[in-house]
Amino acid sequence: MNISEKSQRFISQEEKFGAHNYHPLEVVLSRGEGVYVWDVDNKRYFDFLSAYSAVNQGHCHPKIVEALTDQAKKLCLTSRAFYNDCLGPYEEFIHNFFGYDKVLPMNSGAEAVETALKLARRWGYDKKGIPDNRALIVGCEGNFHGRTISIVSLSSDPDSYSGYGPFTPGLIKIPYNDTAALEKILIESGSNIAAFMVEPIQGEAGVFVPDQGYLKTCYELCKRHNILFIADEVQTGIARTGKMLCCDHEDVRPDIVILGKAISGGVLPVSAVLADDEVMLTIKPGEHGSTFGGFPLACRVATAALEVVKEERLTEKAAYLGEIFRNEFKSFDSPFISLVRGKGLLNAIVVKPYNGKFAWDVCVKMAENGLIAKPTHKHIIRFAPPLVITEEELMAAIKIIKDAFRSLEK
Ligand SMILES: *Cc1c(COP(=O)(O)O)cnc(C)c1O
Repeated sequence: MNISEKSQRFISQEEKFGAHNYHPLEVVLSRGEGVYVWDVDNKRYFDFLSAYSAVNQGHCHPKIVEALTDQAKKLCLTSRAFYNDCLGPYEEFIHNFFGYDKVLPMNSGAEAVETALKLARRWGYDKKGIPDNRALIVGCEGNFHGRTISIVSLSSDPDSYSGYGPFTPGLIKIPYNDTAALEKILIESGSNIAAFMVEPIQGEAGVFVPDQGYLKTCYELCKRHNILFIADEVQTGIARTGKMLCCDHEDVRPDIVILGKAISGGVLPVSAVLADDEVMLTIKPGEHGSTFGGFPLACRVATAALEVVKEERLTEKAAYLGEIFRNEFKSFDSPFISLVRGKGLLNAIVVKPYNGKFAWDVCVKMAENGLIAKPTHKHIIRFAPPLVITEEELMAAIKIIKDAFRSLEK
């Protein structure tokens, strides 16, 4: 890739002074608006990663930025040691928006996942009657729920867990998209299982869409065995897949919903755990929290970000435009493409190496042509533009992607 001297300075700086825990594509961005980002040399790109679906509402959405700057001038942080005039209104808004009794506000997705795991254990002891320190939580192979020690204890990706042991006990992995495996473990150990945690679509694993009916069957199995169904909707939630929550596709109402990323439109780290009173009130004052969780800026920003989703009908747009995207590539004949899959505007193309070129080369070529996306797991490219993209912009982006594949065939 052609890297300007200016870009190279920023890249070298990160290399020298930052931890080496990422491997970015070599574009250095300095500005964003809607579906576009610009690099330090003022070259424009379609953003087809959207910060892993955090920027569903588009970059620097004026309404969200207005909420941020307005509140920033008044009050940013109080901690939860005191009340403030933003948190209550936000909590009521979230209750009305998602229909759960209560919300527990956190910051990062991983924190919200940790919170859900703690809630599940508490519910397991206090309500289900699991003997002390025996609670189990079931997750799926191929999952991505974040990066804390407990969460990577449930990971099946060596890059995530290797060298980080000893691991948190009480976590069990079963294959994804396998209801028989869930039923088996529930029959074997159900009395000590507090929860089953699942991504409705596995995003980081490469946009793995489970079979139709999988979530519904898992939910019913959980109900039959008195086990909480936890949906990690950090990536799939907030309109991304063409429904407000991905579980809505199967009319499943999880016992615990985990939200993050797009709940703030990518403006601040905001996450949330939703549950009804029977689960949420098992945690008592002083037993869990975070200094920034539910801080005034976050409350205002997240409210604006969710209003944008409704006002701009992003759910309907994601459903409609997603169909177009998949149809375009399903009918596109390329030696590189072995599979196109996804829901709404969360899609992936599985890339076969061809002509000595890999998914990474395709991403580099696309970046040269003005569209950024990143491979996940070497041979899969995820395509997740901001949901504010218009049909015209989507068609222009599709052309860039097709041209990139074509030019590497030769
Ligand atoms: C990104 C992600 C997380 C972790 O969120 P962070 O904000 O990076 O901690 C958790 N679950 C899923 C499904 C995600 O995609």
